Amino acid sequence: MQVPTDKQGASKSINPTPNIFNLADIVFSLPDERQARFGRIFHLSSTVGQVVPPERMKGWIIERLGGVEIVENQYVIKVTNQVTMEGALFNEVRTRWPPRQLSPVQVAEATGGEPGDPFCEPETLTSADTFFQAGDTPGRVRGQYCITASSLVKLDGYHGLVIFDEHNPLRFTQDQLSDYLDVAWKWAELAHQEEPQARYYLVIWNCLPRAAATVVHGHLQMLLTRDVHYPRIEAWRRAAETYRQTFGQEYFDDLFNIHADLGLGFVSDEVRVMASLTPVREREALITTSVDDYARPGAFSEPFKRSLFVALDTFINQMGVTAFNLAIYSPPLGETGEAWQGFPVIARLVDRGYPDEQVSDVGAMELYAASVVRTDPFQVAEALRANFSYEI
Ligand SMILES: [Zn+2]
Repeated sequence: MQVPTDKQGASKSINPTPNIFNLADIVFSLPDERQARFGRIFHLSSTVGQVVPPERMKGWIIERLGGVEIVENQYVIKVTNQVTMEGALFNEVRTRWPPRQLSPVQVAEATGGEPGDPFCEPETLTSADTFFQAGDTPGRVRGQYCITASSLVKLDGYHGLVIFDEHNPLRFTQDQLSDYLDVAWKWAELAHQEEPQARYYLVIWNCLPRAAATVVHGHLQMLLTRDVHYPRIEAWRRAAETYRQTFGQEYFDDLFNIHADLGLGFVSDEVRVMASLTPVREREALITTSVDDYARPGAFSEPFKRSLFVALDTFINQMGVTAFNLAIYSPPLGETGEAWQGFPVIARLVDRGYPDEQVSDVGAMELYAASVVRTDPFQVAEALRANFSYEI
């Protein structure tokens, strides 16, 4: 690990509260073997960007950020996951940008949508699947609070939806989320029964158009693909396998333990919760089963579903997130040629910003280089930990 220093060569501490900008101090305070574990996965580097702001901007800078000196020397930290080759850049100035607070009216506008959208009447205005014809709703799985539909325009051969009875995508209970995930799993089992070659399963949730939803009405999407898993997931599997061969350790165990060492991860209900050190966008949380607790035949586990609910509740009701993406990676439904040993069920949850934002949060940096992140993972971890200890 490269020792992060500022241009004067001194290790930088912003304040005593753990934060991403004193990550180096936190790492160096760990026992040697834990520092070594950190260094097996992560590379940390930092620098100071300097700028001479114009006189006429100084008043505005003081008003927005509290002082001109804050922009004159900007501390930037770059965290790289050397195993998966994902990374994030954090700039101290960006983290100081005052957050907006959405009013209840703005949230209602974002989540209201058109009354009578097709997902409000799924049985008449959405498509059914071909592969499940039993029961009262042929081609659909009915849950207590939701029903499946077949995606009209397929992302892949098997592409379905879980459409929630509740229109507002930000309004759901633990029982409702659990039902959505059970129905999503049942759909995958039925698709897999019809086509045993289709065994690589992915659940995604794009919440609000800002996060790429085409319909505001709450819905999950399920994909079951064949031959090889989607490349981001296959890349993680391969990285974990290479890590095991190189170091003789389980990658996902080490990943979690590093986050826990730093104060960014904890276990609740036997499920591992992390605020990612290399968030793909703002505020990425990872919720994983422990490595030896694979998805059991029949469903996502109860602790996993409960923990995912608490994480979503933290995002929506504690951190004010409205537009988000969720993906759930899971090991394949059937036997495969490649090894999935040590690969848990993993939920990735990320904030996509304000629903009315005009500027995209994904630019050339995010597509082709590294994520540029404004929110501090330590604050995300604190919010998650507070809500988990309250809820469970
Ligand atoms: Zn609706």
